[in-house]
Amino acid sequence: MKVALQHLTKKFPGRGRKAREVIAVNDFTFEIPDGKLIGLLGPSGCGKSTALNLLCGLLKPTDGKIFFGDEDVTGLAAEKRGVGMVFQNYALYPHLTVMQNIIFPLQNLKGPDKLSKSQLREKAYEVAKLVQIDSLMDRKPAELSGGQQQRVAIARALVKMPRILLMDEPLSNLDARLRLQTREEIRRIQRETKITTVFVTHDQEEAMSISDLIVVMKDGMIQQIGEPQQVYDAPANLFVAKFLGNPPINTFDGAVQGGKLYIGGEAVMEVKDVPDQQVIVGARPEGFVLNRDGAFTCRLKGVEVMGRDISVLAEHDSCHDPVIRAIVSAESQVDLASASVRFDLKPGKLFLFRKQTEERIG
Ligand code: ADP
Ligand code: MG
Repeated sequence: MKVALQHLTKKFPGRGRKAREVIAVNDFTFEIPDGKLIGLLGPSGCGKSTALNLLCGLLKPTDGKIFFGDEDVTGLAAEKRGVGMVFQNYALYPHLTVMQNIIFPLQNLKGPDKLSKSQLREKAYEVAKLVQIDSLMDRKPAELSGGQQQRVAIARALVKMPRILLMDEPLSNLDARLRLQTREEIRRIQRETKITTVFVTHDQEEAMSISDLIVVMKDGMIQQIGEPQQVYDAPANLFVAKFLGNPPINTFDGAVQGGKLYIGGEAVMEVKDVPDQQVIVGARPEGFVLNRDGAFTCRLKGVEVMGRDISVLAEHDSCHDPVIRAIVSAESQVDLASASVRFDLKPGKLFLFRKQTEERIG
């Protein structure tokens, strides 16, 4: 089911005398294509949960509309929207078994929709198999690992055959390995069921790996929408550039003069068609190439070997961060006795931002 947001806005009144109104979701207009998984990504407090709660109907918007397919659901009660919700804290009933938790949303169906005991069982097993917990049906939540509990919550959300699946930081309570595994599971389940899914996370890597499209948010405002790689390769502004990527992008003060980009006193790259101006330079860690005769000179601080890659740690007076991180291949030779290290910078991994607006140039 396609979902469309039109000028969707949610304002919360400020509390106390001096408190200012918060615009948690500010004029969201975009479409979620049918059958896709879209990641809402942004730091804590940027309005992700508010956006999700507007979609599911737990919150009423201050302004704007929501469509599921052609149906305007803005005024529709949450239970009538046909959405499945999965939260960070699972929210399972502790005294019920896995089976009872899963069929819970189906038990109150009335009239022609009412299901027999065996139908309930059948539906429960169907979704339990999908999330691979069908061998745990008689256990109570306390007898399950965090990952298993979250699978039960996902099964419970799916059992109603929702039109839309909404997940609010569903992996945050899991340890690193389970998080990885469960996110791949969610991806698989979403692909199999083709249910249009909105997945909320503050973890850029999670959003990038799982989403067909990501919506990067900051302070209630959409910064950029696109395919993860597209957004990574062409960030709209400095915030997006810094939010995506691990290790994060390195940023510098720079200047464009006569078609050349200067960082400190060095001309580090040709930049055609950019008018002379002060800029902020963003250079991805993988955009540095060690070169004895390279155009960009930094103070060498050390190296970190991380399996496949080597991180070269360096400093530069124009850098905004205390340390520059350059990722180079493990075969690289770094002369640790040297006080300096020189790089070439890869054009596709380097971005220029306007000093005032922090929008990307070009
Ligand atoms: P996120 O999920 O991205 O961490 P939220 O959507 O929870 O962010 O919150 C967005 C902003 O709205 C925050 O500034 C938060 O304090 C505010 N907010 C959320 N819910 C309420 C509420 N019920 N009343 C007042 N302010 C709220
Ligand atoms: Mg939240």
